[in-house]
Amino acid sequence: MNTRYQFIVFNKAKTGYSIQTVIESLAKELNISPEKLAQSLAKKPLVLKQNLTKKEALRYKQFAEKIGIFYKIIADSSTHQNSVIEAEDMAASTNADKMSCPKCGTVQDKAEQCSNCGVYIRLVAA
Ligand SMILES: [Zn+2]
Repeated sequence: MNTRYQFIVFNKAKTGYSIQTVIESLAKELNISPEKLAQSLAKKPLVLKQNLTKKEALRYKQFAEKIGIFYKIIADSSTHQNSVIEAEDMAASTNADKMSCPKCGTVQDKAEQCSNCGVYIRLVAA
C-alpha cells in the first residue's frame, strides 16, 4: 500500500518572514481571501492537502519553504478508516431521528409531542 501524506500549515512564519506576507502568498495560491485564511489559521492548523503522494508532498514542501510558512507533513494511512467513520456517523444520525417516549415508551420519529399518549417530551424528559 502506498503511503499518502497530509500537508499541514501553521499560523507561524519562519524567521525573517512576516506572518501577514506568508498568509497573503498562501491565500493567493489557494485562491481564497487572506482574511478568511488568517481567521481559520488562527483557530487551528490548516490541512492544506490530503492524500498526497510523496512527490506531491515534496512539491508543497518546496512551496512552503519558499513563502516561509511553518508546515508539517504527516504520513497518512487512515484513508480507509475515514470512510468507516463516515459510515458510522450516518448510522448514528439515522438513530438520532428516532426517540422513545419517556412516559409510554413508544418508539417514533422525533417530535415535540408523543404520537401515542400526547405528552410533551421536553416537559417529561430528564
Ligand atoms: Zn407517549
